[in-house]
Amino acid sequence: MESRIVKIGDVRIGGGNKPVIQSMCSTDTEDVQATICQINELTKEGCEIIRVTVPTVKAAKAISKIKKAIKIPLIADIHYSPDLAILALENGADKIRINPGNIGGRDKLTRIIISAKKHKAAIRIGVNEGSLESDLLKKYGSHSPKALVLSAKRWIKFFENESFRNLVVSVKSSDVRTTIEANRMLKNCGYPLHIGVTEAGTKESGTIKSAIGIGTLLAEGVGDTIRISLSTDPIEEVSVAKKILDALDIIKLPLRVIACPTCGRNKSDVWGLAEKLERDFEPKKPLTVAVLGCGVNVVGESKAADYAIVGVNGDKFTLFKKDKPIIRMASYNQILSYLKKQI
Ligand code: SF4
Repeated sequence: MESRIVKIGDVRIGGGNKPVIQSMCSTDTEDVQATICQINELTKEGCEIIRVTVPTVKAAKAISKIKKAIKIPLIADIHYSPDLAILALENGADKIRINPGNIGGRDKLTRIIISAKKHKAAIRIGVNEGSLESDLLKKYGSHSPKALVLSAKRWIKFFENESFRNLVVSVKSSDVRTTIEANRMLKNCGYPLHIGVTEAGTKESGTIKSAIGIGTLLAEGVGDTIRISLSTDPIEEVSVAKKILDALDIIKLPLRVIACPTCGRNKSDVWGLAEKLERDFEPKKPLTVAVLGCGVNVVGESKAADYAIVGVNGDKFTLFKKDKPIIRMASYNQILSYLKKQI
């Protein structure tokens, strides 16, 4: 069942639209210039919606200035304070993310809902293991997908009773299996799902956990916005998100490099060449390039790729177009300049 479509600024999420890439600023929101600068860098990298933290009145007021200088919708991340949520909405936040369990009561949530309706903004209901109600915790324990889903459904009902349906829902855990199970159970709730493995970890382990958790769900058609949580520069989060979407053919990145792992047959710098190619080359239309340490697989691999670069010796390679050699004994720079001229 497709969810309803929720508009965040001019970005539409849910209803079968392509999953949208989100990230979160690591800057102090009160530092308007630094936050604008980071958002614009993330936008250039491919971020489509950005979240900023709003822990103070000054941060909430900074939203109106930040919004004037950025091109993507902005979400205010709120904890505990209904007043800050309302101030963020008054200053132009396109969406607020709250954990309804930590806002301090239903009357306070109702005040936020009235403001979101007035400003035509969306609300993301975030539920995680730390926010589970005591009866659910007692019955199911803390790592229970069912408890997360039941909690989310209670809050959905509350918002619906207040006639508010401009909702996005997230159930999150730092445990990959819990994340997958909970989102599978929630996929037909009728609202777009924001998915992510929370506090996933450092660049390497967080990428692996996110690729498994988010990737599994996306492959099953579950998930409308994604955020890769990594303990590193948020630029990396966007880059990993794009690679996950590309691996599932949900988007097509300009360059897809297929590289062999190398073995004893390899006599050239395949690892270095594959990395340099990914870093240096951004074709104008999608292109797949295979980088291989030797010729044994060139016929098979180059059928799937537009070009194949095959190691000869040291820094010398042969460039194939499909299975026909184009340049022999070429350096990386010669191959790169040839490819740049073709595309
Ligand atoms: S392409 Fe050649 S070098 Fe690379 S793994 Fe296969 S056999 Fe080894």
